[in-house]
Amino acid sequence: MVDLALTGGTVWTEDRGFVAADLLIDKGRIAGLASAGRAEAAERVDVSGLTVMPGAIDAHIHLGHGQDISRPRVPADAASETGAAATGGVTCFLSYVLSADPYGPVFDEICAIAEEGARLDFGFHCVIATEDQLAEVPWLVARGAPTAKLFMNIRGDEGARLGLPGNDDGYLFRLLETLRDAGGMLCPHPENIEIAWVLRDRVMAADPDGADGLAAWNATRPPFVEAEALSRVAYLARITGTPVHAVHTSSAEALKAALLQRGAGSDVSIETCIQYLTHDTDSDLGATGKVNPPLRAPHDRAALWEAIRRGQIDMIATDHIHRPPTSKEGGIWKAQPGFPGLDTFLPALITEGKRQGVGLETLVPLVTSNPAKRMGLATKGRLEPGADADLTVLDLQARYVVRREALATDAGYSIHEGQTMEAAVVHTLSRGRFVLRDGALIADAVGHGRYVRRILA
Ligand SMILES: [Zn+2]
Repeated sequence: MVDLALTGGTVWTEDRGFVAADLLIDKGRIAGLASAGRAEAAERVDVSGLTVMPGAIDAHIHLGHGQDISRPRVPADAASETGAAATGGVTCFLSYVLSADPYGPVFDEICAIAEEGARLDFGFHCVIATEDQLAEVPWLVARGAPTAKLFMNIRGDEGARLGLPGNDDGYLFRLLETLRDAGGMLCPHPENIEIAWVLRDRVMAADPDGADGLAAWNATRPPFVEAEALSRVAYLARITGTPVHAVHTSSAEALKAALLQRGAGSDVSIETCIQYLTHDTDSDLGATGKVNPPLRAPHDRAALWEAIRRGQIDMIATDHIHRPPTSKEGGIWKAQPGFPGLDTFLPALITEGKRQGVGLETLVPLVTSNPAKRMGLATKGRLEPGADADLTVLDLQARYVVRREALATDAGYSIHEGQTMEAAVVHTLSRGRFVLRDGALIADAVGHGRYVRRILA
């Protein structure tokens, strides 16, 4: 007899797509599928009419504290944002940790703070920016954080606000070599900032009040600035023999650059984010929609969807940032970039997918097995015997309007407010335990989440 059976639903399988079956869970793991009503279980939950899939894995978020996006400071940071994750059908996220100091003295403390609040499992990527941190890369890989971020756009004093020194291509090259030797992967933020500075000065001089809004922001760091940096890092990574993960790919140009380098032999995975699929410079968001890379033109958004149809994009993430709405004040030039996306992740993706004629069968791997494989999450991303019972149960017939009051993120706002979602997350389970049940967060799941050590394949 197993612990739990989810009965009567339609269940995602790697090899056969969606099938009608009962899903069996025992001791926090998937025990297998059974034909309807056949298995003995201590608890049976009827999910008739609902769709069961592995929980989404969001490989790109920023778990911070208020205005500070560098790291969680108190358990409540993890409690609220893993609550947002469960609400959006996400069962595991990987957060970027940022520091000007070495990670060794604080890494375990950051894990412990997050575990105390987390409802779901999580991992970390670290931003590598200093000589001390470069020397720590093998240690971080051994601690289960084998993916390192480099802000290619932090040159000169661009990183002063974050306390980070400027880097150059020599540092990038040494980081690539170090990651290769340690069994790691680079996740570069690709932007040629030297060209962006020139364009920023021109665009701001022509539009000092930012009247052109999101289009003006896009014009200060346009697609070719992203594409050039991505092209450069992917080329250099081929020379060093290091895998590269292209985070938040936002434009047709950057996509083309990544595919060209991949075609030439670079080991490049391509991530885009939900906002580049649901919004563009024509969207009516004002400064709230400021993000880096910027929301792009409608044709860029169309190109990303076309790449999804062709199987060229590996994963979709959120780049969730949970700063408060005050971070968006002061117009397009003063607003801080980034916004939350976890609460609405799967509903927004499924809703837009319908409009684009892209079904859930195409989208599931991009948010489950693909990120699990690429990011070294061996026990997650699939509903196969022995895998962690991390899953989400969706109602694809449900319709609801996104309301600020219903959000779990402590950011307290969403770029989807007022929009009708054409799918809803009903239940979310982490290692067999309900974290969200009938659309409501389970309070005592706080502290259930664990730091996951990752090893790249
Ligand atoms: Zn990010």
